[in-house]
Amino acid sequence: MKRGRGKFCPRCGTQNNVGDAYCIKCGYGFKGRKKKSSLKSILILIIILAAGWIILRTFLKKPIIPTELIDIIKNMSASKAG
Ligand SMILES: [Zn+2]
Repeated sequence: MKRGRGKFCPRCGTQNNVGDAYCIKCGYGFKGRKKKSSLKSILILIIILAAGWIILRTFLKKPIIPTELIDIIKNMSASKAG
């Protein structure tokens, strides 16, 4: 048994070879960093939604921000001041 030329799986604890991308027992991905990609996909989704909203409002020839929302903001600032 050689020691030092292996890495332990964080999920099941099985010793794997250093070069292995996946655990030989449970298939855990050592190189897999899904946290970053999920954050990226959320950002892309927000951008797509925002772009879609702007295109839709432009297509319908309506202001990008609904006038009702502007009125609410105006009323809030007016009540604060007065
Ligand atoms: Zn494993």
